[in-house]
Amino acid sequence: MTTTTQNAWPISLEFFPPKTPEGADKLTAVRQQLYPLKPQYCSVTYGAGGSTQDGTIQTVRAILAEGVDAAPHFSCIGATKAGVREQLAQFQADGIRRIVALRGDLPSGYGGFGEFRYASELVAFIREATGDHFHIEVAAYPEMHPQARNPAADLKAFVAKVQAGADVALTQYFFNADAYFRFVDDVAKAGVSIPVVPGIMPITNASQLIRFSDACGAEIPRWVRSRLEGFGDDKASIQAFGLDVVSALCERLREGGAPGVHFYTMNQAGPVKALCERLGL
Ligand code: FAD
Repeated sequence: MTTTTQNAWPISLEFFPPKTPEGADKLTAVRQQLYPLKPQYCSVTYGAGGSTQDGTIQTVRAILAEGVDAAPHFSCIGATKAGVREQLAQFQADGIRRIVALRGDLPSGYGGFGEFRYASELVAFIREATGDHFHIEVAAYPEMHPQARNPAADLKAFVAKVQAGADVALTQYFFNADAYFRFVDDVAKAGVSIPVVPGIMPITNASQLIRFSDACGAEIPRWVRSRLEGFGDDKASIQAFGLDVVSALCERLREGGAPGVHFYTMNQAGPVKALCERLGL
């Protein structure tokens, strides 16, 4: 596995696969700007139902070729066991040692769930098929997954993923540190001890953030949302305010013992660089 010297507070970076050759060139430049931050690894998202499968694997290969560890996200919804086995063999052939294992969401118009219903089943299958080859990351939701019946049921589902063989959890982004600390306490009380790494979304674009957050169930505190809305089209003020809010959140997480930070880069270098500069990383 390729590695880089790490920060005292480890960081990882998430990208999405570009759709065009121009997008791929742009992302290559973004990565070069971010590598001086010494990420522990970079992860690359996977479109619902495997829609970005080629782009994901190509981006992961490019990152590995640049000497940085890389993990494809991999979702099982709509997949067959034979298809997953084939994909895992491809990952192994590519020298991949990490996977972010997810259920994913059914794209509209998709027939059925396929042979996996939950991420815990995917994690168990990966362990059964490939033993300890992969370091497995799974998703966690400090503010509860939007489809969960209640927080206790969601915690139970999370524990099942860990018991199936997950090594680390990456959280959905959040702006409320108390939700994270409470989740970590609940996880510990449930007898589970894997690191729960907070996922951090830089604030750069108010309308996009509000749209995403409504879709994924992440709460934007009222005072943050109203200020963002109040800035209107004033991008500079949104970014300056966003940097204050998110760096204060990261500072609290670091002081409270969070084991590292996973940045949702949105394929942009500037916001993550600014945050890391503020945080002295
Ligand atoms: P699961 O852990 O299976 O949970 C899904 C729901 O089912 C939850 O409500 C849970 O409580 C419930 N559940 C689980 N097990 C059981 C059970 N045994 N009985 C009853 N209920 C159960 N999506 C993508 O499409 N591509 C990506 O690349 C991607 N990357 C992500 C990265 C991170 C760090 C995060 C946090 C999310 C990411 N997502 C991605 C979104 C994710 O796919 C969705 O949130 C999806 O709805 C749930 O996936 P999961 O792996 O958390 O599912």
